[in-house]
Amino acid sequence: MLANKYGKETLLRLRENETFERRTVSFYRYVRLENVNTLRNDLYQVWTELGILGRTYLATEGINAQMTVPVPNWDAFVADLDSRVVFAKMPLKIALEEKGSAFLKLIVRVKPRILADGLDDNEIDMNRMGEHLTPVQFNEALAHPDAVVVDVRNHYEHEIGHFDNAIRPDVDTFQESLPIIRDTLADHKDKPVLMYCTGGIRCEKASAYLRANGFQDVSQLNGGIIAYAQHVKEAKIESKYRGKNFVFDDRKNEKITDDILSTCHLCDNPCDEHQNCQNHACHLLFLQCQTCAKRLNNCCSAECKRIAGLPLEEQRTLRREARQRAGDSHYVSQLNRKKRKANPGAEETKENSTTIELKTKEINSGTTELVSETNS
Ligand SMILES: [Zn+2]
Ligand SMILES: [Zn+2]
Repeated sequence: MLANKYGKETLLRLRENETFERRTVSFYRYVRLENVNTLRNDLYQVWTELGILGRTYLATEGINAQMTVPVPNWDAFVADLDSRVVFAKMPLKIALEEKGSAFLKLIVRVKPRILADGLDDNEIDMNRMGEHLTPVQFNEALAHPDAVVVDVRNHYEHEIGHFDNAIRPDVDTFQESLPIIRDTLADHKDKPVLMYCTGGIRCEKASAYLRANGFQDVSQLNGGIIAYAQHVKEAKIESKYRGKNFVFDDRKNEKITDDILSTCHLCDNPCDEHQNCQNHACHLLFLQCQTCAKRLNNCCSAECKRIAGLPLEEQRTLRREARQRAGDSHYVSQLNRKKRKANPGAEETKENSTTIELKTKEINSGTTELVSETNS
C-alpha cells in the first residue's frame, strides 16, 4: 500500500523548509462511491504529487477530508477534483486563520463510514436532511421567537464557543449525541429546529435523524461555523456565534470573536486554550490557563506532573504495569468526571474512559474526532 515512510522529525523539518504558502481546506460529500480502494490509491498518488498533507476518509457513503494544499498547486488540485464526476463542484471550506500549516503527512483511509454515527443501515434517509441555510438565512432564522438552536458538537468543542442560547449536549462523541438531542427536543417536534456544527457534515446526519424521528421543521447551517465565520468576516457584520471554533488539527481553534466563554478546568479563571496533559499515559484534553500550565508543567495534576518528570524508561514501565492491571481502558478522564459531578445540571452521560482516552490521543496527534468516533 502507498503510505508515508518518514518519521515525525523529518516531516517537521521538511515542512519548515518549505518556500511556498499552504491553504488549509476541508470538504465532504455524501455520494455513492464505487471501488473505494482503487480510488483511495489514485487520490493518494495524485495528492502526493501535489504536495498535499492532511487526512481524508473514504467510504461507500462518500468522502470527508481536511488538508493543506500548496498554494501554487491549488488550481491543479481543484481541477483534479472537478475531473471526477463524484467530486465535481465540491464546496471547499477554506480556514479563516492561518497559524502555520496544520498537517505533517498525507493520510487517505478507507472506512466503513466517513462519520461514525452508531446508526443501523437504513435507520435514516440521507435524502431527507434538513433545509440548508446560508449564514444570512441562519441569522434570520435565529431571530424567530420559537427557534430551538442545537449545537451538534461535543462538549470540548462547544465549551470554547457557540451560538447564544444553543442547546449543547454534554457528550464526547457524535454518536452519543444523536439520541440525547432527540430526547432533549422531544417537546419541540413542531418548532423550528436550527442545528450547526464545525463544517456541516454532522448536521447532514443529525438533521436526517431528527426528521426520521418525527421532527417537522429542521434546518442546518450550510458549511457550518467555518462558512459562517468566513461570511461574517467578509460582510463585516456582527457574529452571533461567540468565542472560538474548535478545529481538529494543530491549530486547535479559530478565533471568531474576542469573547472568552470558558474557564480553566483547574482554577476557574477565564481560559479558552486546550491543552493535552504532558503525561503521555494521561493525555487528557482540557482547558488550562497559563498560570496553571506553568505550575504543573502543562500537566493536568500534580500526579501527572510527577510522572511526566520521571525518566522515559521509568514512565514506560509504569504504563506497562498499569496496562497489565487494568486492560486497555484504564486512562480515565478525571477532570471531565470531576467537572460533571460538580455540575449536576449537565446531561448525565455514560462514562466511557476508552472513548475519552482515544479522543484526546487523536487530537494530540493532529487527526480528528472521526477516528475516535469510529473507535468508540
Ligand atoms: Zn488555571
Ligand atoms: Zn494528566
